[in-house]
Amino acid sequence: MSVTDILTAPVGGPSLPQERRLVTAIPGPRSQELLARKAAAVPAGVGHTVPIEAVAAGGGVVVDVDGNSLIDLGAGIAVTTVGASHPKVVAAVQAQAAQFTHTCFMISPYESYVAVAEALNRLTPGDHAKKTALFNSGAEAVENAVKIARKYTGRQAVVAFDHAYHGRTNLTMALTAKSMPYKSGFGPFAGEVYRAPMSYPFRDGLDGHEAAKRSIALIEKQVGAANLAAVIIEPIQGEGGFIVPADGFLAELARWCRENGVVFIADEVQTGFARTGAMFASELFGIVPDIITTAKGIAGGLPLSAVTGRADIMDSSQGGGLGGTYGGNPIACAAALAAIDVFENEGLVQRAQDIGAILTSRLGELAKASPRIGEVRGRGAMVAVEFVVPGTIDPDGGAAAAVAKAAIAAGVIALTCGTYGNVIRFLPPLSIPDHLLHEGLGVIADAVAAL
Ligand SMILES: *Cc1c(COP(=O)(O)O)cnc(C)c1O
Repeated sequence: MSVTDILTAPVGGPSLPQERRLVTAIPGPRSQELLARKAAAVPAGVGHTVPIEAVAAGGGVVVDVDGNSLIDLGAGIAVTTVGASHPKVVAAVQAQAAQFTHTCFMISPYESYVAVAEALNRLTPGDHAKKTALFNSGAEAVENAVKIARKYTGRQAVVAFDHAYHGRTNLTMALTAKSMPYKSGFGPFAGEVYRAPMSYPFRDGLDGHEAAKRSIALIEKQVGAANLAAVIIEPIQGEGGFIVPADGFLAELARWCRENGVVFIADEVQTGFARTGAMFASELFGIVPDIITTAKGIAGGLPLSAVTGRADIMDSSQGGGLGGTYGGNPIACAAALAAIDVFENEGLVQRAQDIGAILTSRLGELAKASPRIGEVRGRGAMVAVEFVVPGTIDPDGGAAAAVAKAAIAAGVIALTCGTYGNVIRFLPPLSIPDHLLHEGLGVIADAVAAL
């Protein structure tokens, strides 16, 4: 797109027509042109799910260069939770961009970074003293959370879980469970990372207590609490398949960590900011993490991430030991303050619950009608269906892929996930109107029926 094209493209945000509109096949001719340029200019390792050239987004739609308007059930992987180009975010970004784009917070501090830290210290679970450091990506937040926990405890080992996803940098690849596509061929991986079983009720049949006992026994035997700096876990696993642990699993794990001086890190990069029908998913399970990592939904689409934790833990790193050139960029901070205002004052926690009620009831009906759906699970606006071979719990990745492909061809952005690739996840922007959500789910239902 040339600059003139951008200036004449439809303005994004909630005022875009909230409709599914297909005027060409997906991808249309102009999208195909971009995808050909992409294939020539961008490495194959950087994939894409929806074969379009996006030119505008907002409310519950993404509009492409050919004039197609797709229903967005993915929010750019839980990023545009407040909606793409939310007017408050746009205004804050424009104002800050005109003021200054960068000073480097480690050189000349500015107020918005501190205000974001104060907001996160206030909003995250627990009323203990907290501090927050800002970074650019989820992976960078996770890396720093581990650094901080190691420094604080003087220990090195870190435990992550089956089906975990924590990012694509070297340390976070080590923490991530799935080899293809995230790790295969990219080793050697960072050391002192150990893996424990996750509570996955649909597949292991264990209650929370049994699952926690199994994990803790393995940790004690194979790592030893005395060597363990941190346990890191997603309260509801994202990429791994929207796996909701059995009740009690997380609380028991957190209690064991506390009793053994192990830092309990909740990776809420995907679950954070109203996504699950609570401001943070930890609240749903009654846990108060020592450290919480956030990113994705934090800033209405701008790159920002945070590590928020107990003040004594956060303060244990030496001056200059934490930071980064761009961490807490002022435009991203301005966007985050606007997004946090929206989360708190536009009823988004309630909106996520209402979307969740629609998702679980519609998908529940679908599961009743189709033996290919083994389970519908999730919380709030983070709900998934897991496809199985009928009559078994054997994963059926082909079914999930076929449904997602058919949905996209019909103008609905649907994302797959899961260790076995057999899960379709629904994580729409919370700005999606009900009629589009229903229409999108209708398209999914047709695709399931056509399997
Ligand atoms: C996406 C994700 C990450 C990595 O975030 P990036 O911004 O892609 O580096 C880490 N943890 C969880 C739980 C995620 O969903």
